[in-house]
Amino acid sequence: MKIDLKIPDVVRETLETLEDKGYLAYLVGGCVRDLLLGAEPKDWDITTNAKPEEIAAIFPKTVYENNFGTVTVIHEEIEDLKLRNIEITPFRLEAKYSDHRHPDEVRFSDKLEDDLKRRDFTINALAYDLKGQLFDLYGGVRDLKDKVVSTVGSPDERFTEDALRLLRAVRFASQLCFTINIATEEGIARNASLLRNISAERIRDELLKTLMTSQPDFGLSLSHKLGLLQYVLPELEQGIGIEQGGEHIYDVWEHTLRAVKHTANKDWPLEIRLAALLHDIGKPPSRRAGVGKSKQWTFYGHEVIGERMTRTILDRLKLSNKTKDLVEKLVRNHMFFSDPDKITMSAVRRIIANVGAEHIWDLMKVRAADRIGMGRPKEDPYRLRRYEAMIEEALSQPTSVAMLKIDGKKVIEVIRETPGPRICWILHGLLN
Ligand code: ATP
Ligand code: MG
Repeated sequence: MKIDLKIPDVVRETLETLEDKGYLAYLVGGCVRDLLLGAEPKDWDITTNAKPEEIAAIFPKTVYENNFGTVTVIHEEIEDLKLRNIEITPFRLEAKYSDHRHPDEVRFSDKLEDDLKRRDFTINALAYDLKGQLFDLYGGVRDLKDKVVSTVGSPDERFTEDALRLLRAVRFASQLCFTINIATEEGIARNASLLRNISAERIRDELLKTLMTSQPDFGLSLSHKLGLLQYVLPELEQGIGIEQGGEHIYDVWEHTLRAVKHTANKDWPLEIRLAALLHDIGKPPSRRAGVGKSKQWTFYGHEVIGERMTRTILDRLKLSNKTKDLVEKLVRNHMFFSDPDKITMSAVRRIIANVGAEHIWDLMKVRAADRIGMGRPKEDPYRLRRYEAMIEEALSQPTSVAMLKIDGKKVIEVIRETPGPRICWILHGLLN
C-alpha cells in the first residue's frame, strides 16, 4: 500500500544514507502508528538489514550500548531531542524466552518480515519506506481503523515470551483510546500471573505511562478487570466495594478513579496523579462502623495509614526519593479544613508549613481532584478564591525568623540586650 506520510528532514536523510550504502531501511513501530493516526511521534525508530557495526561505520556519531543491536545515531546540531537521537535496529528474529522477559539470545535477520513478526501488537508492527510503501503484514491498518489492540499472532505465545506485553496492551489502549481485541483480552486474563516475572522497574514504567494518559481511570479498571492490577497495586483493589456513606456516593475504588481522571482532565503532572491515586489508600484498613444512631462509617487516621502505605508502595515500585517524598506529603495532608469563613490564618500557615510553601498549590490540586472524585459540584469559585487569597497572604509573609528583615545583632544593638536565649524569643515574638 502506498501512502504519503510527513517525515522530518533529518529522519529522511538518515534513511537515505542507509539506502545509499545499499541497505534496506524502514521507519517502524510507534512512529508509523502515530503518523497514521495523525499524531506526533514521540521518537523515530528505524529498522534495517545493516548489522550494528555496519550502521556505526556509515554515520559520523553513533552510540552502541545495548544488547539488542540498537545503534543510536546522534545529530549533535539538532536541539529537538526526538530527532537528535535516532535509533536504528537491525532486523531481528523472535528468539526463545525462558524467563518470560528476556530473549535467550538476539539473532539478526535479512528480512523485514521477521522483524515485524517479533513485535508485540499489530498496530506496532507497521513499517514505512522512503518510496511511500507501507508494509502491513498483520492487519495493523485495519486495527488502527477499528481502534483495537491485537497481538501479532497467538496472544498466549506473545504474552509468555514477554509478560510486560500484558501491561503494554492496557497502556496502549489507554493512550490511544482503543479497546483490546477479545482474543487478546482473553490471553491477558489467562496469562496475568506471568507478571510475577517482571521487574518492579518495568512494571513501574508502564504504570506511570498509563497514569499519564488522558484516561488513566480506564486503564486502571481494565487492568483490574483483566486480573493485572493485583500484581501491580493490590492495595488499590482493596477499595472495591468499600462504601463510605455520608457525602460519598461512590465506594473508595470508584472515588479514586474519578479523582485520578480529574488530574488527567487537567493535564496535571505525575506527582499529583500519584497522590490522587493513593490519597485514600489508607481507607480500607481504617474503616470502622460508627456508633450512635447514624452508624456512619468512619475512617479516622486514614491519611496517616495512607502515608505509610504510600511509602511502601512507592518503595516497591522504585520511584525516586523526590517523587516519594512529595506524594507522601500530599497524601498525609490531603485532609484539611478550608472553609474561609471559619478558618484562621494560623491554620492556613500550618498547612503551608506541613507541605512546604513550594507544594501548597500541589496540595490544592489534590484537594480539587478529591472533591470532584466525590461527584460533588466544583467548589464555589468565590469561596475557593477567598481560601486561595488566604494562602497567598500567608505566603507573602515570613514563615521563619531567618526571613525577617531584622536579625539578632540588630535587636541587641537597639534594645541593648546582652546576647542569649532572650534574643531568640524576641525574634520569634516579632515573627508572630
Ligand atoms: P510510545 O513510544 O508511544 O510509547 P512505541 O510503540 O514507540 O510507543 P516503544 O516502547 O518505544 O513503543 O517501542 C518501540 C517499538 O518496539 C514498538 O512499537 C514495538 O514494535 C516494539 N516493542 C517494544 N517493546 C516490545 C515488547 N516488549 N515486545 C515486542 N515488541 C516491542
Ligand atoms: Mg517509542
